[in-house]
Amino acid sequence: MYRPGTDPENVQMSDVLCDFCQSPWTEDLPLVEGHQGSVICGKCVRVAYLQIVLAGAGEPALPGLKCRLCLEDRDDPSWESPLDGTVRICKRCIEMAADAMEADPDTQWTRPRTEA
Ligand SMILES: [Zn+2]
Ligand SMILES: [Zn+2]
Repeated sequence: MYRPGTDPENVQMSDVLCDFCQSPWTEDLPLVEGHQGSVICGKCVRVAYLQIVLAGAGEPALPGLKCRLCLEDRDDPSWESPLDGTVRICKRCIEMAADAMEADPDTQWTRPRTEA
């Protein structure tokens, strides 16, 4: 998402915020984009990956609450934003975001391997 008031003709890195924790984009914080300008940052993907993929937690989003990244109403478990319970990412998108961040040579991001 863009910070409110962002000039769409002149978007700065700091105008791009994670939809889930609202951290601004920085050189050290990778972001993955979803549909309609949604983004999730590396910190959130790490937490979501730990909880949903490794620990097997998470419930399907309530009917009508779509995944913020793929905009689909999916039955797989989803992770909820700590700031807004209506902002969710599905397990498939968590895994795709982790793949994308690991594949980006500009980031040092690696997925967590254990629950610790
Ligand atoms: Zn985040
Ligand atoms: Zn999704």
